[in-house]
Amino acid sequence: MAGKSKQSQAWRGGFSVTGKGTFRLARHDPSATPGVKSRKAAEHDLERITRKLVALQGVLYAEGRHAVLIVLQAMDTGGKDGTIRHVFGPLNPQGVAVTGFKVPTPDELAHDYLWRVHRDVPPKGTIRIFNRSHYEDVLVARVHGLAPMREIDRRYEQINAFERYLTQNGVTILKFFLNIGKAEQKRRLEARLTRSDKQWKFNPGDLAERRRWGAYMRAYEKAISACGTPWAPWHVIPADCKWYRNYAVARIVLETLQGMKLRYPAPKPGMEKVKVE
Ligand code: AMP
Ligand code: MG
Repeated sequence: MAGKSKQSQAWRGGFSVTGKGTFRLARHDPSATPGVKSRKAAEHDLERITRKLVALQGVLYAEGRHAVLIVLQAMDTGGKDGTIRHVFGPLNPQGVAVTGFKVPTPDELAHDYLWRVHRDVPPKGTIRIFNRSHYEDVLVARVHGLAPMREIDRRYEQINAFERYLTQNGVTILKFFLNIGKAEQKRRLEARLTRSDKQWKFNPGDLAERRRWGAYMRAYEKAISACGTPWAPWHVIPADCKWYRNYAVARIVLETLQGMKLRYPAPKPGMEKVKVE
């Protein structure tokens, strides 16, 4: 058993960045599929993982003591939407919600950048998925100079303090960078141009962002290096293969829930004597 749990911890550990040393994306192959025998085996195993996730979500909800915040970041077409659908779709909708962070509204811009984020932190008993997040304020903001650089430079520490505060107050945080390669992004953007079921997703702005690929990669490296912390680690997931991405994310979420030692609440005193008439 000990060996088994060690092996499962290795998944979380294998992808996590917790701030020791400088993080380099060049060392992470987006098309890699480490730790699986085959696509078929992974897809089969995903069904088992999903059943366990659904069961543990039920306990999380019943216990009502912890919240789980999942942060998804990726370049355009990186698979945030697909991950949400495939990994979190089977969960009980009463206990899971998604927030997508878009270009801030005037009202949001009139506040500090964490205001809209804090507002959507999950209540206890539930899971919240952030489709983009406060990290946009050190990613797109950095690449496009949306704030003075000295302000952006201060945000890494502010984000670490904010995330630490949340974890000290019952929120477990898991951050995923879905790492696709530039060639794979090209394929996916081309599919959005030609496939009728994908054309609605095409945004000409994505091409302008693609031209800044290098600047984005540097911004991601900086964010992952500075904000990969023991309390809120980043996980860098090879995401060129969609099936692998789904499998890795699901497995890491499962390990995390298992590590939380969730328990159904004890029965109320005297319940054993209650009769239903
Ligand atoms: P999508 O996720 O494709 O719907 O696009 C959302 C867009 O909103 C992306 O281009 C993000 O970069 C942008 N966005 C999200 N958060 C921010 C932010 N804090 N500041 C500026 N742009 C943002
Ligand atoms: Mg988009």
